[in-house]
Amino acid sequence: MRISRMAAVATAAVLALSVAACGDGSDGAGGSGSGDGIVGKAAGGKLVIGVKSDQPGLGLQTGTTYEGFDIEVGKIIAKGLGLDASKIEWKTTVSANREPFIEQGQVDLVIATYTINDDRKKKVAFGGPYYVAGQDLLVKTDSTVTGPEAMEGKKVCSVAGSTPAKRIKEEYPKVGLQEFDSYSKCVQALGTGQVDAVTTDDIILAGYAAQAEYAGKFKVVGKPFSSEPYGIGLKKTDTAGCTKINEILKAAADDGSYKAAWDATLGKGGTPAPTFDATKLTNCPA
Ligand code: GLU
Repeated sequence: MRISRMAAVATAAVLALSVAACGDGSDGAGGSGSGDGIVGKAAGGKLVIGVKSDQPGLGLQTGTTYEGFDIEVGKIIAKGLGLDASKIEWKTTVSANREPFIEQGQVDLVIATYTINDDRKKKVAFGGPYYVAGQDLLVKTDSTVTGPEAMEGKKVCSVAGSTPAKRIKEEYPKVGLQEFDSYSKCVQALGTGQVDAVTTDDIILAGYAAQAEYAGKFKVVGKPFSSEPYGIGLKKTDTAGCTKINEILKAAADDGSYKAAWDATLGKGGTPAPTFDATKLTNCPA
């Protein structure tokens, strides 16, 4: 493992050097390497996918294993690219480093509860959406809070570099925003009473509320106040890769593998798989 990783780094470094010699130094080590984009990965390379490591049901790392809906979506994409699951290297990302990881070539893809929006599209391309979440609040079970307007003067935790943190700053400036680098830290702070609520996507919050260690302690308010379409991030220049991702997602919805990915993860509690809407797929950059 260690040796092969070093060999891969060495290979990538050589590729980066040869690419730089051609006057294009934009590819970093460990990423797309040859600059061919993710479609060229089918020729035998590995696929590095940036995922969350602390979001139950979505992207959760236990030892060296990652599991969750985003992980299953990653396996679908790799398979559609003709790559065996053993060729995937999962790399933990946090909300704030997703665009830099893609831009620097530290990852080939990001599948990490990653909202598609115009700001981010200036830096990266997105395939998808493969799911649409909504911003919500996680509060103590006995709380009577019904929405963000009720949080003025209170402490609400979210994550730096996320759309929920940005929305609180811009639309609810009187809310006392506390930012950490991961939602699990926010949930711990809610448990100790350091903050009054946690805000992010409803599907992420539901995953924490369902954890055995928090049983009966927290609830999701259940009044989403945004639309968060989850995309698969990749290099802005990789139009072929973006188009291919959308094709793979559509095929996965048609052949049942999208539903199977849901059922094996977020759907375990009985929530039926969402209807995949292929008409909403992004226009990949030209
Ligand atoms: N979907 C939102 C975002 O991409 C919140 C979840 C997250 O931070 O991963 O910013």
